[in-house]
Amino acid sequence: MIRVHGFLGGISEALRADLATADLVVGGRRQLDDAGVLAAQRVELGALAPAIERLKALDDDKLAVVIASGDPGFFGILRPLRRAGLHCEVVPTITSLQAAFAAVALPWDDAQLVSAHSGGIEAAIRIAGVHPKVGVLTAPGKGLAQLVAALRGRDKHFVVAERLGEADERVRVFDEAAALTVDEDDLASPYVVLILDAAPESAEAVGHSPQLAGDPNAPGPDDPKPASNTRADGSDRAPIIGQVVNTTRARHQADQIDQALGVESKRYDGPASAGLVAAWGECDLIVSHLALGATTRLIAPLLADKHTDPGVVVVDEAGHFAVPLVGGHIGGANELARRIGEALDATAVVSTATDSLGIPALDQLGWAVSGDVAGVTAAIIDGAPVSVLREHLWPMPPLPGNVLVPAPGEPAAPGTVGRVVVTDRAAPTAGGASDDQLPTVVLHPDSLVVGMGCNKGTSVEALRELLDATLAGAGLAKESIAALVSVDAKAGELGLIKLADELGVPYVTYPADRLAEQDAPNPSAVVEREIGSGSVSEASVLARGAELIVEKHKSAEATCAIGRIPARGRLHVVGLGPGSRDLLTPRAANVVRHANLVVGYGPYVRQVRDLVSPHAEVMATKMGTEEQRTRAAIDAARSGLDVAFLSGGDPAIYAMASPTLEMGTDGVDVDIVPGVTAELAASAILGAPLGHDHATISLSDLHTDWELILKRVRAAAQGDFVITLYNPRSRSRIHQLPDALAIIAEYRGPDTPVASVSQAERAQQHVHMSSLADFQPEWVDMNTIVIVGSDTTTFATSGDGRRIIVTPRDYHWMDGAVSGHKRLNYPHGSRPRVSRAEFKGQAAPPAEAAQPPTTQSQVTPSQATQSRTTAAQPGSDVPTQENSHD
Ligand code: SAH
Repeated sequence: MIRVHGFLGGISEALRADLATADLVVGGRRQLDDAGVLAAQRVELGALAPAIERLKALDDDKLAVVIASGDPGFFGILRPLRRAGLHCEVVPTITSLQAAFAAVALPWDDAQLVSAHSGGIEAAIRIAGVHPKVGVLTAPGKGLAQLVAALRGRDKHFVVAERLGEADERVRVFDEAAALTVDEDDLASPYVVLILDAAPESAEAVGHSPQLAGDPNAPGPDDPKPASNTRADGSDRAPIIGQVVNTTRARHQADQIDQALGVESKRYDGPASAGLVAAWGECDLIVSHLALGATTRLIAPLLADKHTDPGVVVVDEAGHFAVPLVGGHIGGANELARRIGEALDATAVVSTATDSLGIPALDQLGWAVSGDVAGVTAAIIDGAPVSVLREHLWPMPPLPGNVLVPAPGEPAAPGTVGRVVVTDRAAPTAGGASDDQLPTVVLHPDSLVVGMGCNKGTSVEALRELLDATLAGAGLAKESIAALVSVDAKAGELGLIKLADELGVPYVTYPADRLAEQDAPNPSAVVEREIGSGSVSEASVLARGAELIVEKHKSAEATCAIGRIPARGRLHVVGLGPGSRDLLTPRAANVVRHANLVVGYGPYVRQVRDLVSPHAEVMATKMGTEEQRTRAAIDAARSGLDVAFLSGGDPAIYAMASPTLEMGTDGVDVDIVPGVTAELAASAILGAPLGHDHATISLSDLHTDWELILKRVRAAAQGDFVITLYNPRSRSRIHQLPDALAIIAEYRGPDTPVASVSQAERAQQHVHMSSLADFQPEWVDMNTIVIVGSDTTTFATSGDGRRIIVTPRDYHWMDGAVSGHKRLNYPHGSRPRVSRAEFKGQAAPPAEAAQPPTTQSQVTPSQATQSRTTAAQPGSDVPTQENSHD
């Protein structure tokens, strides 16, 4: 019999009794001496192997005592003993770290505990870099001095606890400055170090117990956030990016990267080794501006695990290359390298096979994955036939031609050498996989919704048991659960909250009246009386929009039903912006990258061809086949594909979003991705012509009645809107633009700024700035947009000497402040008028006739201005001039 006693200082009664009868006592010399163990009985620890031999050799009826320092199960001797196959009885005690936290009266359930013996001091340094409360078991040469040096500048507090439990126990607290002065020789072994963000006596150091949301004891929204910034906390905060720089050029390059990425990275300037090590502890992503070799050497001792290590991208001094060194996928380095590549016009040197071949990584799809990922991925990379078997239309990323995706429910293609089974069933045999030897990866999509109701106070164990039984009965996979749902009355039910947390899914509740509306098959009258809906589990599944696949199961305390979220393809209607790559939004680019099918008018497809996966299908069509194109896109999404349907500019503005939605998109998830519309691109090129109210009108009368268009032009002219004209002219539509300008001219002066921008943000871009009187419709073609100023729009000169157009915002604070002028613009309505006839080049009519027609109910621009500037007073129904600062 072997009894392992924890030992921290004093000898317990139990240990004393065992020592009296023990045949063998194993322990460190210090412990054996303290316990007064005789030479004949003792086995002194240094090397472990001889001690284990002695223990193994001992007869079963004899007693061996092992004295462990601190608790035997905590970085202690229990593990090697058990590994050696020895049967032990354990008498626990507290660990030295527990004692150290107790000595400074700090809770330690939120601390990270590290042993310098096993993980090395580097692990302790790295963890202390990101965690506010860390306890370290030190080892010879791996102690306070190393910790303090590595964490210098981080303003940490150090608790040094020596010889805990002994008569000469000593606990001291140092801030960084004081810790730096501690003499190594003055430390009595053994000792532990606590590394804290806050001084132990401060309220902040108390921290938060890592409890679940909804737990009455959990921190409320007003409680200070824990200081930890690690994303291991499960938060979805933006990643912290650090840049390690040590030359002027690198600093400049780092600025450029920040600017292009729209981030404020942490800078690690100065000695490279210290900077990189510090960044390793503090950042999710690191951009190293050191050489690849130097970076590799520096991070080598820090590497732990691809799931927790930061992603590192190395950028060379000339900014030609961005190399993801580690953490390509999970760490996000590949993605960061690509973005840096775009920002610096550098090449992203991505070497993970799946990325370089444009093949999706099976473990990066966001779905639970198991099976032979390496084997199946290798087969895909080799171009061997691999089948993807889906029971439902779960969207898959673009896949190379050797990956065959039969229709849902169909078997694998003949000759298949590997298989990806996409299923929410538990057994991998589901979905067509049989028990042959084919390498198989099983992916569990997030497709199941679990609805539960329960009595107040039902334990998480009881709920888990019911859920497990229900899943098992239906053969469904726990990994596919996407949400736990219930009724609002259960929003604070701790067991359900804990269960959702265990499952790693959101816990969502619905109002009882919403549940009452659902057509649940097994309602209960008792529940109806109690909460106002006859069903909780089934109804909440239905309220989530899922299809009920497992009806209500009951235990004594709870109910459980399961639904499946309908699997659908996705149709993204994407705006590509005016043309240049940097005005393509990152969201639009992402959608294009991940689409299985890209549909669009030829020039739009060409605009983003390089982003499209080599494994995606492309359907570029000619103009005029909009209806076919739209139908094809919707049909493809219905068949389960992820479709990017492209529009120039913004998809809703005279483009494909409305016809798509009008055509009907049943059975498809629709996602409209906005783009920079031509009007905004042109406005920016011209200055700020859209600085005040504006109207956009398409002059295309192919689908809109021309009279209606004219009516809108007139109304906008009359309302003194800046007017943007889309589709102003084509080879066959010549008269529309002059007609529209003539109407506008009835309300605006001949010198009103009018500009056209053709091919905005493309290589062929050209601009004409003119006035209403001089504007030439010949400047305009179908790739042009025309902007007509309002009564206040004016020309100005920008700092670089360019002529620009500005429509004033009418800020009060601008009065008298602009270049000594009272105002930059004309007062509303004071511009000289010109008649329609005059605009068309006919003789000027008499002055009265030049007035725009007015009726009783109409307010002309000049009347409106008068009321605004002279008659506005509180209580009148004329709008007063607001001093808006938006
Ligand atoms: N969805 C597009 C508009 C489609 S209507 C958008 O939001 O921009 C087509 C009209 O848009 C063209 O006749 C032209 O008036 C305008 N247009 C589109 N792209 C343009 C560009 N790059 N430069 C100038 N005008 C453009």
